[in-house]
Amino acid sequence: MRPLILLLLAAACQPAPDPSLGSGGPPPPAAQPADACAHDASWTEPQEPFRIYGNTWHVGPRGLGVFLITAPTGHVLIDGGVPGGAPMIEANLRTLDINPRDVKWILVSHAHCDHAGDVAALAAITGAEVIAGMEDVELLAGGGMDDPQYADRFPFAPVIGARGVTDGEILQLGELTVTTHASPGHTRGNTTWAWTSCEDERCLQLVDVGSLSSPDYTLVNNPKHPTLIADYEASFAKVAALRCDLALAPHPGMVDFWGRMARRDQGEADALLDPTLCRGYAESARENFRAELARQQGEGGER
Ligand SMILES: [Zn+2]
Repeated sequence: MRPLILLLLAAACQPAPDPSLGSGGPPPPAAQPADACAHDASWTEPQEPFRIYGNTWHVGPRGLGVFLITAPTGHVLIDGGVPGGAPMIEANLRTLDINPRDVKWILVSHAHCDHAGDVAALAAITGAEVIAGMEDVELLAGGGMDDPQYADRFPFAPVIGARGVTDGEILQLGELTVTTHASPGHTRGNTTWAWTSCEDERCLQLVDVGSLSSPDYTLVNNPKHPTLIADYEASFAKVAALRCDLALAPHPGMVDFWGRMARRDQGEADALLDPTLCRGYAESARENFRAELARQQGEGGER
């Protein structure tokens, strides 16, 4: 077992692990509280909610992409932060004068505790229907247990009764349309969500890019995810080819979100717009994946 096991989750979606974690392994699941997930301080760091573009808002903590898409016909929330993260998200909604009961859907990027950790609580607060990639519905219902990579290491409150959706499915909620782009690999139901937001006459395609990282994953001969390699490769190609005017992500560092925001705050009005970011992220994730795959195949004598 490698010494970085405690960093697995932090590394799952962000390349830079939290250096404060030390090298000890995590306690066994039975002794592990739900807040085992929240070991990256930015995942619970308060952040004033703000408009990203048009009807799309940032409503999560500083270090996680939790987004709100608004419409008079009902709102859509994407992701729910870490276990215990719901009150901050709810407070941010109220700051924006959003009645949580007007949130009709909660979309999930993937069923790991840093994104689905408090979806169950948010579903209870809002009464919203939870929607996720079909292959993550079971992982949500199991509260992250029996994960193909993490096993029972990072539990969260089970999300019961999520609606599973498949690649290409177009979801319509009143005036809102969100397109499902299945991007399996990181989890089997990992999903990239895309929608259109407009300001005045200018409409942009916003994309919440699903995580494509695979740090410390078992890539070869994983009986719990036998299609892993083909899944990742298809997802890299798909995300790279998406129309992606304004890239968002479950972890802001995936698409340099705060760097772009800093430029916008300094007066560069369109700093968030960069149609190369989805492709750039997918290509760099693919490079990392293939290097690690070659290493693991070499270790197994399969090369
Ligand atoms: Zn993850």
